[in-house]
Amino acid sequence: MDSAVRAVIDGGLRLISDGLVEGTAGNISVRHGDLVAVSPSSIDYDRIRPEDVCVLDLDGTIVSRPDGPRPSTETGMHLRIYRETGARAVVHHHGLASVAVSTVVDVLPALHYYIVRLGGPVRVAAYARYGTDQLARNVLAALEGRNAALMQNHGAITYGASLEQAFDRALLLEWLCRLQVTAASMGRPRALSDSDLAEVASAAYERTSS
Ligand SMILES: [Zn+2]
Repeated sequence: MDSAVRAVIDGGLRLISDGLVEGTAGNISVRHGDLVAVSPSSIDYDRIRPEDVCVLDLDGTIVSRPDGPRPSTETGMHLRIYRETGARAVVHHHGLASVAVSTVVDVLPALHYYIVRLGGPVRVAAYARYGTDQLARNVLAALEGRNAALMQNHGAITYGASLEQAFDRALLLEWLCRLQVTAASMGRPRALSDSDLAEVASAAYERTSS
């Protein structure tokens, strides 16, 4: 479990250094066996110590020290993703471009073929107040067949087989949202079609399987 705790601390520092959050916003979790290490609520990322990282089982029972800091307010959303997908790590951030795009569209259009790495055009989960079970349900619905989703008027969420992969996807999603903002400022962007994306996906599959 120590490696998962360490990964949560390092991931929090990376949220700041990558410019994806301000202050204590966003949250990180890493699964280890049937336990999940989650960043604590309301502690600056550069002040989180190993004993501050919360460890829970998949049902939400805290197994780390009972007098420790509370786990992130979005812990329920993280646990639901672990229960219903093959995720091993989850990153939630408030990147400026991701939030901006989440206020305007229902689906992030495929302006660049890299979007196939996220499973296709990224859906925007319907708004619900932060930390609620409704928000967790909306996010799970938006993640169907995807490893990334935007959260309306809130932020972005990605998962992966490792924290590194979840981060790569978080940064890719933020970049695709910057692309959307930039292109839309000049006019109506052209988007790739479903058949364009299917061709990219099969070319990528052939490359990795050959
Ligand atoms: Zn948030």
